[in-house]
Amino acid sequence: MRKKVLIMGGAGFIGSHLCDLFIAKGCQVICMDNLITGKIGNIKHLLKNRDFEFIRHNVSEYIDIKGRVDYILHFASPASPIDYLKYPIPTLKVGSLGTHNALGLAKVKKATFLLASTSEIYGDPLINPQREDYWGNVNPVGPRGVYDEAKRFAEAMTMAYHRFHKVDTRIVRIFNTYGERMRERDGRAIPNFISQALAARPITVYGDGSQTRSFCYVSDLVGGIYSLLMSREDEPVNIGNPNEITLLKLARIILKLTDSKSRIVYKPLPVDDPKVRRPDISKAKKILRWKPKVDLDEGLVKTVDYFRSVKKA
Ligand code: NAD
Ligand code: UDP
Repeated sequence: MRKKVLIMGGAGFIGSHLCDLFIAKGCQVICMDNLITGKIGNIKHLLKNRDFEFIRHNVSEYIDIKGRVDYILHFASPASPIDYLKYPIPTLKVGSLGTHNALGLAKVKKATFLLASTSEIYGDPLINPQREDYWGNVNPVGPRGVYDEAKRFAEAMTMAYHRFHKVDTRIVRIFNTYGERMRERDGRAIPNFISQALAARPITVYGDGSQTRSFCYVSDLVGGIYSLLMSREDEPVNIGNPNEITLLKLARIILKLTDSKSRIVYKPLPVDDPKVRRPDISKAKKILRWKPKVDLDEGLVKTVDYFRSVKKA
């Protein structure tokens, strides 16, 4: 029988790529989203597909699905710092109440549940790269705490349902991911830099740009998530690209790729902005036989093309 997949947050950036992947694998897909940061445009090419259904719903409220569900993927949450700072309480609710509702549904449907967790659970890390057994350095009462602690709670809730109710669960810790369908005004570094460069506006580097991140292209990420879902691993797994660069270097690469005349301007570093971030992906390599294939230049060229096409449209 064909598998039925519920993707919560399916109209968002990563969620919409997951909808595409599961449709391509021949599954039936239910995309559930309240469109707080996502948009119908991300899934409009699927709306006429008979294997695809969109349900507009806030997953922090009780979730009612008729019939069988085989897999539940919980990707619903504001994810860009500007979004979760704008929506602190919905962010805390979707990580806590939303995760509880999704796990309750997984329990009654006997579905496999996958949680989209994040490298933010490591906070401003004191070790680099971050391995899954690092517990992190998070400020619970700072502005980013609404996201970080919601995701940490979501992981704890997932493990409790796994241990106590024997729900089949997975936890993916996603590191900075980029690609097509990010919004121009998403606020994260790559969409900001590309849209600023294409519009010849100043490139806003926060702090002195010496902080690092490791950027993963979206097709690599969704491939890793699929492998994790199909595995039997119930402990958290990092998925990301370990190629670590400073934000200043990223800004310069994007200036060059877009052939832009924009200048770089320096803005204050946001509170609790992690100084370094790089995934240790040994576990994913070993148990999923997964590693990223798309290097930064190649992924950025595709993303720049996408932003150019959106501008023209
Ligand atoms: P996004 O904002 O594009 O997508 C999130 C989606 O969830 C949106 O469509 C939004 O409308 C929906 N949503 C939010 N709250 C909801 C609610 N209460 N009910 C129903 N739908 C709701 O962000 P994204 O980058 O695609 O992130 C998707 C998931 O991956 C998030 O859970 C995020 O924490 C996680 N993640 C992303 C990254 C990244 O680099 N993109 C890194 C780590 C973790
Ligand atoms: N950043 C920046 N300029 C921007 C947007 C972000 O310098 O216009 C920096 C931000 O301070 C952080 C890094 O880029 O150090 C990555 O930020 P992003 O919001 O993409 O993701 P985060 O890893 O902080 O969740």
